[in-house]
Order: sequence, then C-alpha cells, then structure tokens
Amino acid sequence: MSDIIQLLPDAIANQIAAGEVVQRPASALKELLENAVDAGGTSIQVVIKDAGKQLIQVIDNGKGMSATDARMSFERHATSKIRTSQDLFAIRTFGFRGEALASIAAVAQVELKTRQAETELGTLIQIEGSDVKKQEPVAVPVGTSVAMKNLFFNVPARRNFLKSNPVEMRHIVDEFQRVALSYPEVAFSLFQQDLEVFSLPSGKLSQRIVSLFGKNYQGQLVPCNEETPHVNVKGYIGKPENAKKTRGEQFFFVNNRYIKSSYLHHAVSSAFEGLIQNDQFPFYVLFLDIDPAHIDINVHPTKTEIKFDDERTVYAVIRSAVKQALGAHHVMPALDFSLDVNYQENWTNNPDTKVQVDREYSYKTFNTPEFKKSSVSGWERLFEGNSNPMPTASQHSDEEHEILTFPSRASSDESRFMIPSQEAEATGTTFQVELSYIIAQTSTGLLIVDQQTAHERILYDRYLRQLKSAQGASQQCLFPPTVQLNAGDFALVMDMLSELYSLGFIVEEFGKDTVLIQGVPADVQVKNEKELFEGLIEQFKNFKNELSLDKRENLARSLSRRASIKKGQKLNSQEMETLVGQLFASQNPNYSPAGNKTFVKLDLNNIHSFFGK
Ligand code: ADP
Ligand code: MG
Repeated sequence: MSDIIQLLPDAIANQIAAGEVVQRPASALKELLENAVDAGGTSIQVVIKDAGKQLIQVIDNGKGMSATDARMSFERHATSKIRTSQDLFAIRTFGFRGEALASIAAVAQVELKTRQAETELGTLIQIEGSDVKKQEPVAVPVGTSVAMKNLFFNVPARRNFLKSNPVEMRHIVDEFQRVALSYPEVAFSLFQQDLEVFSLPSGKLSQRIVSLFGKNYQGQLVPCNEETPHVNVKGYIGKPENAKKTRGEQFFFVNNRYIKSSYLHHAVSSAFEGLIQNDQFPFYVLFLDIDPAHIDINVHPTKTEIKFDDERTVYAVIRSAVKQALGAHHVMPALDFSLDVNYQENWTNNPDTKVQVDREYSYKTFNTPEFKKSSVSGWERLFEGNSNPMPTASQHSDEEHEILTFPSRASSDESRFMIPSQEAEATGTTFQVELSYIIAQTSTGLLIVDQQTAHERILYDRYLRQLKSAQGASQQCLFPPTVQLNAGDFALVMDMLSELYSLGFIVEEFGKDTVLIQGVPADVQVKNEKELFEGLIEQFKNFKNELSLDKRENLARSLSRRASIKKGQKLNSQEMETLVGQLFASQNPNYSPAGNKTFVKLDLNNIHSFFGK
C-alpha cells in the first residue's frame, strides 16, 4: 500500500492553530495589544469597527520591525522573544509562542505598517489568509500599526458563531482594560466607530483605575502591599462598603499577565469575610510578582490560567496582604495617607525596571545578616535551655547594643518611660502597655508590637526550620508524665512521632492509647508538660478542621500558638527588645501565621499630623 501521511500545508496548519489563538475579535485584540506593549510602546491606540468584526487596529510607537522581521513575524513559531527552551521558564514578555500574527493572518485580512527609528522608510505588508498580497516600502511614523480586517472572512462557519456586537464589544473592553491596568505608565486610547470610548493618560495605577472605572473609585481604593521572599503583592482593593452585588472588577496579574484563579480569588474574599455580605464581591486589582521559575504559564493557549509550584504560599500571602490592607483602613483611617489616590507610588510595572518597593517595615538594622545572627544568639540566651532564662543586663553585649535599634538603657522604671528626643535617634526605649503591646521607638517613629502574635511568628518560623532540618533541642522532663489519649488521637500522635521529635518532643508509646512524654522543646517555658502536649494535639485538630494545612505546617502553627507569650505576661526590656528584633529578623514580620497583624507603625509624619503639622 502506498504512504498516505502528508504534512499539512502551512496555510491550513495556521488556520487550525488560529482556532486556539483567535476565538473572537477580543482575543486578536489581546494579542495585538500585547505585541505593542512588548515592543516598548509608550502610547497605544486602538480602533474598533463593528465590534471588531470589521476592523481591529492597534497602533503603537514602539521599536518597530525591520523589513525582514516584518515578513518573518507572520511565520508560525516566529518570535523574537525566546530562543531556547530555558527561556520558557523565565518568561517576562507577553508573547512567546510566535503564533499570534501567523494565526491572525490565517483568518483575516491584515495590513501591517512598521518602521524602526534608524530607517527612513518603513514597511507595508498586506496578507490575507496567509497569502502575502503586497510588501513595499512606505512612509510611516516609527512604531507599528496592525490592522486586522474582516475576521474569519475565509471561515464563514466561525464568522457565524460570533456573538452580537454588544457581547463581542464587552469582550473587547475586558481585554483592553486588563492590558491598560497592567501598564498604567503607557497611554492608551480606544475608539469605537470613530468615537473615543477610553482615553487613558500615562500615570500611576491608582489614576489608571480611576480613569478606567470612573471618578467614584477615587476615594475607595485601599493600597495593598506585601513583600515576601517568594512573592510580592501590590495593588489596590476596594473598601468593603463599596463591594458590589455583581461580580465585576476583580483582577489578578502575575508578572503583569492577567490571570484567572478562583483559588486566589478565594484568598481575597476570605480576607473580606465578615466585612461584606456573602453575595457581594470586593473590588481588587492585585499584581503578584514572582520568580518565573515558580510558575508555569504554558498551561493554556489563551494563557489566563497559571500554575504555581507553591499555590498555598501564594494564597496565604494574598490573604494576609488583603487583611492587612483592610486592617490599616479600619484601624487607622485618619492616619492612612495612602488612601489618597494621589499617594506616591514609587514602583512601576515596566518589566524591565526592577520593582522597587519601599517596605513600610523595612528596618535596615533588623534585616542585616549580622543582626539575624546576633539576634538569634541573643534570643537563644533569653528564652532557651532553662526554666529561668532571664539574663542579666551585662549579658547583653555592646555589639548587640549597636545592632539592635532598641538598646537597653531602660534598667529602671523611670528611664523606661523616658521618651527620647529626636536627636537621640539611636537610643530608643521600649515599654509595655496593658501587658500586651510593646511600644518601641525607631528612627522614623514608633512601633506598637503585639507581643503574642509577634512571638507566634517568631516561633512558627523557628519550628518550621526545625521540622525541615529535623533537629530541635529538647529538655528532659524531670517527672515524665503519661498522657492517656483516645484511639483517634493516639493514632494521630503515632503518625507524627518524627515531626514531634524534630520539634523537641520525646514521646514514647506506653501501653494502649497512652504515651509517655520524656522531653519537651527546650525553648518553651513549660509549667506543665502534659498540658502543653495535650494542648498541642487539641490545637492541631482544630486547625486541621479549619484549614487544609499539611502536617508540618499545622504542627508549627499549633505549637507556636500554644508556646507563645500570651497577653498579660510581663516582659523586661531585654525580652522586649529581643522579641522585636527577632520579629524583624523574620522574613514575614508583619503578621502571625494565622494572618493576624503583629505590629503597627506610627510614622513621625503620622504623629506630626495629629498636631496639624
Ligand atoms: P510573539 O509575540 O509570541 O513573539 P507574534 O506572532 O505575536 O508572536 O509576533 C511575532 C514577532 O513579531 C514578535 O516576536 C515581534 O518580534 C514581532 N512583532 C509583533 N508585533 C510587533 C509590534 N507591534 N512591534 C514590534 N514588533 C512586533
Ligand atoms: Mg505576540
């Protein structure tokens, strides 16, 4: 029998591929807009006729293409954006498949005009159903204009499937808004049948939101910022009182790419829980910045889905970021200058510029590696090893005095409450309010630290580390207690003996459903080992019902909850300083593992403003 397999001609292959890339006019617009942004345009104009069925034209002032590149750009898998498979894992541009223009040209009549700054004449190419009809030099401004006419002119079946103009226009506006939001520094305009629908000057994200969605958004935006080593979150959420009944404006961008994720949406709505009704939707525009190595955007051709290698962390960070933004809004509305839309934003979405965020709580002194080292040892001395671990003032070395911004001058009650003058910047002092909060001075204002949540954060970080490295110091129980459990709890404990061991618990089976506690974590001030252990198991079970944490995370959380310093516990000044120092040595200092705030910062500016200065 003769061979029957043949390669498809390019035009047909392109048409098939086009089925994925160009589902409707809006998807073509998205591709063209993304190309314009990728080309570095600072001003992008969109012209729409007949809801995109007749014309979609995108004009940019970006870098343009050479004559050869212009022709190449219509070839499938022709791209200037990736070269090796390694690049696939470091994608920062929008496009990368090199199939958009080829696909569009396969199912429409396309006219491309483009010029690079260094050439006098540009290039015009007309292409129809993958057939090049014309290529010639042309006098055009620097940049690129792509006009896509009569979409699906050669695929009548698909043309018939297009929806009514209002529906298609809605999709077009959606795509336009997404790109416009992710590039506020680029000016955009959109014309429909010669009418200007949007005119968006270049500006900050807050201004972009207002120009897209209307003036009434002006006072409703709450900034939301969170930086962690894994992911940074930045953007705005709407105040709870402005949540809407209809699902409207909710936007997530990952490395500036719009994505849909009901999982992450849940992170935001759960942070709003209790503040809005169940049937309401909060407004948000949140940008996640994450190392491209941790994501896979290649899951779906239209690329609005995304896979994270550590979805849970991203969820937790978003939730806490939103909670914190809401907290700031509720607790201190009068202080929060950032509620003003004109609040300076010293960051940019341009992927070429490294996102620079002034972390509110970044205390250089605390974040230096030296500090981390020394504060750990200081901390260990304070809280580890024995049941009476309070060191004397002389144990606090001078070196640590320099590293901590809270040097211990306060040995007497009198000096504890002395408020140092502004000149005496480095000589801050700490004191406790209500036996619950630590007030500490920094060079730029005051910190109010919640001793319990702060300590939970510190312990949690440590326990997680121990669980990973499987080493935790233990203190022997003088009179090892036995704990009688029910069958279920016994099984639970048996299942995590090694994790318990990493935390410092030495637990042995001791007859039916009974365990013997030989040792407990060295750094916990234990009054009653049995109570500590039972409490831990109880807490573990509670969290297990509430949250889907993995075993280790749950254990770390549960033990940090049980072992933390509680409200009402008196702390001396060194303990306070060490606690604050330890907190800021954490990579996530501003909330406890459960997402509760650990501190509030009162800037001198805020304080001045109390007095109308
Ligand atoms: P991709 O964007 O995935 O690379 P496209 O088919 O969208 O693939 O575009 C192919 C190539 O054409 C791009 O890699 C880019 O080099 C060039 N190109 C497309 N649009 C523009 C534009 N507006 N300005 C400059 N170059 C462009
Ligand atoms: Mg592209």
